[in-house]
Amino acid sequence: MPQSRTRLAPSPTGALHLGNARTFLLNWILARQRNWHIVLRIEDLDGPRFKEGAAELAIDMFNWLGIDWDEGPYYQRNDLASYHAATSRLARAGKVYPCRCTRKEIQQATLSAPHAEQHELRYPGTCRPQNPQTDETRFINTEGVAWRVCVPAGSTSFVDKFCGKQTHDIGATVGDFLVGTKLALPSYQLAVVVDDAKQNIDQVVRGDDLLSSAPRQMLLYDLLELGPQPSYTHLPLVLGEDGRRLAKRHGDTRVLSYREKGVSAERLLGLLGEWCGLGSREEITIAEFLKTFDLDRMPREPVVFTAADDAWLLGP
Ligand code: GLU
Repeated sequence: MPQSRTRLAPSPTGALHLGNARTFLLNWILARQRNWHIVLRIEDLDGPRFKEGAAELAIDMFNWLGIDWDEGPYYQRNDLASYHAATSRLARAGKVYPCRCTRKEIQQATLSAPHAEQHELRYPGTCRPQNPQTDETRFINTEGVAWRVCVPAGSTSFVDKFCGKQTHDIGATVGDFLVGTKLALPSYQLAVVVDDAKQNIDQVVRGDDLLSSAPRQMLLYDLLELGPQPSYTHLPLVLGEDGRRLAKRHGDTRVLSYREKGVSAERLLGLLGEWCGLGSREEITIAEFLKTFDLDRMPREPVVFTAADDAWLLGP
């Protein structure tokens, strides 16, 4: 059996906080426990949210925590040609079509749609042609023109290694999703698939906010004929006390801030360890964490970060 390969794929959109630090740590632990090769990939296509210096900061935080990798870092912006080639291929095969709808138009058309997901609007299919024309490929790489996949009707199923069997109807939830944006950049869904295939990734470990993206990515694997799809392991997120995903609104939970306040990596790992089923919190080295962690004992519910956790980190 060839060695499995996984990736650490931070988006440089802000400093790593306790929630995404935990997900990256778990990805690293699973890889080192199972002898997977680790690729570091910086997902720097995330348009307006991209922050200067955040990639270096993420790398610095990984180093500080003791998270290492075997290959990379690769930066998505350095190889835009591979994404454009994939979009062209889909267009030539009549699997995608150009779309000029504005967000406002989509919002108006979907106002009464029952299935609109919280952050994502279901595309109502306004620009979808009966038969996608392959001569439309001339619009690839043209600003102002987005590209959408003709999503086939019906549900797909797959088995997630942590969440179990998943069944999802892409057409009913998000509809014909984007592969290329109006800025002539690949969408997140396309970029991840092209990169995972190019980098021979067969193990994807990430937060379960991306669980509903997996079927879209699997569909792109099929349409692009990229071979077997990776295995997916989606892990529960860390939430704030209001039940929402940990973010800025819950205060400054950045790893960097704790580090600057004098918190040691071992103390921070101690809190993450309790959240990962290692028993009650106590300072722990990453080597001990690696030895003790057992995915089967990992809590299945999301973890809630409280003021008491913050006080423990900063405590005496
Ligand atoms: N870049 C994404 C993040 O930082 C992860 C994407 C993925 O793992 O597919 O949340």
